Amino acid sequence: MSDDKKKKAQKEASPPVDTKEPTVTVTKKVRIATTWLDGCSGCHMSFLDLDQRLLDVAGRIELVYGPLVDFKEFPEGVDVTLVEGAVSSDEDEEKIKLIRNRSYLVVSFGDCAVTANVPAMRNQFKIEDIMKRGYVENATFHQAIPTVEVPHLLKKARPVHEFINVDVFLPGCPPPPDAILFAVSELLEGRIPDLSGRTRFGA
Ligand code: SF4
Repeated sequence: MSDDKKKKAQKEASPPVDTKEPTVTVTKKVRIATTWLDGCSGCHMSFLDLDQRLLDVAGRIELVYGPLVDFKEFPEGVDVTLVEGAVSSDEDEEKIKLIRNRSYLVVSFGDCAVTANVPAMRNQFKIEDIMKRGYVENATFHQAIPTVEVPHLLKKARPVHEFINVDVFLPGCPPPPDAILFAVSELLEGRIPDLSGRTRFGA
């Protein structure tokens, strides 16, 4: 076989080379964080009550911070943060401001975040009296008001939107799982959820 014929035969035997860039569709997961300030964790429990329906959203989100995962520092570039609880201490205030700076959308998650709710019941008392009640009168051992490693209480427990801009209000004590699923699903679709008729204060 001549050289030309050999080259022609080799060329025909070789698979075609695709010189175009591979076209891979990458669907970015939505980075979601949750946190609790002065709350009872009931709102998070209601989230978990979605049970197997959590799997419907699990593939579309990346849980980057919260009590349900073990990350120590609130990360940068969070898409949506659900905040449970009122702002009651200097630590809460510092945290919520950091969260606002690092989150595209913030959701006031539950009545304590939306109105201060249960934590606000202490607002009629002086801080000294609250501390005395908790650490002295109701304590069996070590009856003393701690001076270190306890966040300093603000004068009043207040709702989250009095400290930062809030994008979505999700009331309920706790919000029902169906309302949480609706809100999260809408946010994943890039829509601000209309929650009217799906939950209410004290629901
Ligand atoms: Fe608990 Fe209700 Fe407050 Fe949620 S809104 S943290 S369930 S008291």
